[in-house]
Amino acid sequence: MSLLTVGTVAFDSLETPHGNVDMVVGGSSQYSSYAASYFTKDINLVSIIGDDFPQSELDDLSNKGVSLEGLKTVAGGKSFFWAGRYLENMIDRVTLTTDLNVLGEFDPILPDSYKNSEYILLGNLTPDIQISVMKQLSSKPKLVVLDTMNFWIDSAYDKLLEAIKLCDVLTINDEEARMLSGEHSLVKAAAKIFEMGPQYLIIKKGEHGSLLFDRNNVFFAPALPLENVIDPTGAGDCFAGGFLGYIAMTGDTSFENMKRAIIHGSVMASFVVEDFSNYRIKSLTKEEINSRVERFVNLTKFSL
Ligand code: AMP
Repeated sequence: MSLLTVGTVAFDSLETPHGNVDMVVGGSSQYSSYAASYFTKDINLVSIIGDDFPQSELDDLSNKGVSLEGLKTVAGGKSFFWAGRYLENMIDRVTLTTDLNVLGEFDPILPDSYKNSEYILLGNLTPDIQISVMKQLSSKPKLVVLDTMNFWIDSAYDKLLEAIKLCDVLTINDEEARMLSGEHSLVKAAAKIFEMGPQYLIIKKGEHGSLLFDRNNVFFAPALPLENVIDPTGAGDCFAGGFLGYIAMTGDTSFENMKRAIIHGSVMASFVVEDFSNYRIKSLTKEEINSRVERFVNLTKFSL
């Protein structure tokens, strides 16, 4: 049930209506690893950092069962840096800066111990790297999930289509689904995206929950109404990490189990947004997670 996650390990500077933080730890594979670590202890991380990244943060990831053998450190290099500003509604955001830094020269070499990973999360990252990781696997994985964002749809559309062809499940937000497909209706967007290769599509709609499609079925998962949303950064990555972590734990890739996995992904997303950076997602208890899953179940339970 090994889970490989490739993505960024980064510094973020964030402006939100609740305050600003500068150079806090972020990055897609950092977030997804934490979220997945509550479901499986066999996580293989692939990424790159400069030697400016704090060792204590790496130790925290290792202590969660995350293998860092595939995390390359470039001496004298700077880690990926992203700065963003959230609007008053805490959903829409503008990117202020994307500095690829060491990511610009990253050509990942998978350690041998990663090559038979069964569950693959191609986290938000350049499509070239997502493709390169897939090519180095020595056995066919049980499920490949690909996450991406508007930045790559804009700047690397053709390469992204190549990467999407290699995945089973694509996760994107509603605006990105429209951008990628050129269709406004999400149902039509889903049909177009299935022609690109994936068998499953998850469309994230922020505080309005998410939709899981296959060619014949649609399932809707709500987002938990939360009192305190402090920083939405990492919600998509924690969703993806929780989703795939749950599938890896259960070993079941059926549509029925994907419904349960989506709820677990939503639970992990609901935690990360309650504080900046990884402060909340780092040290959750099983009880906190289970009680939030229960709240999700009750949110939509009714009788006729
Ligand atoms: P999310 O809020 O789930 O979309 O993820 C936000 C995280 O993704 C931040 O911690 C950033 O460091 C990272 N990030 C931002 N832009 C990119 C990008 N273009 N490629 C990869 N990771 C990014």
